[in-house]
Amino acid sequence: MKYHAVIIGAGPAGIGAANYLLNHGIKVLIVEKDIKPGNKACGGGLTESALSFIDDDIASCFEHHKKLKVISPYFSAAINSDKSYMAVADRTLWTSKMLARLQDKGADIILGKRCRSINGNTVLVGDESILSEIIIGADGPNSVVRKHLGINSAIGVIAIQLVIKKEHIKGSFDLKNTPSVYFDFNKFLNGYGWIFPVGDSLKIGCGIPLVKNGGKLLNSSFDLWLKDIGIDSSKGRVQGGSIGCKYLGHRRDNIFLAGDAGGFASPVTGEGIGQAIISGEEVAKEATQKNYSSKILKKLSRYHRKTDHILSQPEVGAFILNSAPFFLKSPSFAASVLRRYSSF
Ligand SMILES: Cc1cc2nc3c(=O)[nH]c(=O)nc-3n(C[C@H](O)[C@H](O)[C@H](O)COP(=O)(O)OP(=O)(O)OC[C@H]3O[C@@H](n4cnc5c(N)ncnc54)[C@H](O)[C@@H]3O)c2cc1C
Repeated sequence: MKYHAVIIGAGPAGIGAANYLLNHGIKVLIVEKDIKPGNKACGGGLTESALSFIDDDIASCFEHHKKLKVISPYFSAAINSDKSYMAVADRTLWTSKMLARLQDKGADIILGKRCRSINGNTVLVGDESILSEIIIGADGPNSVVRKHLGINSAIGVIAIQLVIKKEHIKGSFDLKNTPSVYFDFNKFLNGYGWIFPVGDSLKIGCGIPLVKNGGKLLNSSFDLWLKDIGIDSSKGRVQGGSIGCKYLGHRRDNIFLAGDAGGFASPVTGEGIGQAIISGEEVAKEATQKNYSSKILKKLSRYHRKTDHILSQPEVGAFILNSAPFFLKSPSFAASVLRRYSSF
């Protein structure tokens, strides 16, 4: 088989890249290891900028919220907006709708087969060799394509999440319908916790930076936090995952990395869906337009590196994160932080 472009991975990065290429008349093949992709451990929370990459007619995959609570051990702020402030995605539904749409535009899609390796311009999928001029690695934080390029792991954050039906939450738990994020340097270091309502369920999780014995720390912080907020995890489903936020380059010749494979997620909040979609589009542009060098990708990687550096200094990180809700009480400050933080 021969293609102009092969994309490994049908997550948001692969979908973003495929959409751009198909809109520009390029024949693509998407290779995805899962039969039903999109069902990964993920809070599914999208802020305003990420939402701008989502077509309106696919809005049914998202639950929109006009209010967000930001909570630390010392302060709490409710950020209100008259339009959708953030949304929580049903990623499985969004992925299946997007893949159907890409197929209508002419994409070939192989589901349930893993890209095993790359050799020059050839991608080995199962037992089949596929020749391609452009190869895009959109295969998440444990990227095979990144390994092939010899770039160190992208993983900078590890995360855990409980998905639990609201009916199993006892008492007057006032965050059942309002998304909320938690900063607490003692519990999550320079990561954060979240409670996102979606349908009849809540997604409750936290992410911390990848440190020595991080897995143990993550599990104990999570258990302690659930206990603090009075939630019994035995009634729900616990999922874990890692997040690719270490950017160390995204291109070697005709091979490109997007999304978590490229390390484009935020090292602070672990937010990576919007970054994956836009980085997919941008690497597709670089792959097909001769002198194009993406300013957006440079900005993303520079900004994430800078925030990571500032917050990883323990005293500074603890001060900024623990006092974040205090400053976010001011609507103009909250708007400017969000504009600065999450505009790509
Ligand atoms: C617990 C948790 C909570 C999170 N919460 C949020 C959140 O609330 N908001 C947010 O914006 N981000 C969140 N993230 C981060 C977000 O999930 C990722 O940044 C985003 O999914 C990255 O998209 P991607 O397309 O790069 O990779 P992925 O979504 O990981 O997609 C990669 C795809 O490639 C496939 N694949 C992998 N290897 C191969 C292979 N060898 N061959 C073929 N296919 C392969 C996978 O099956 C997958 O479908 C969270 C992450 C975790 C772990």
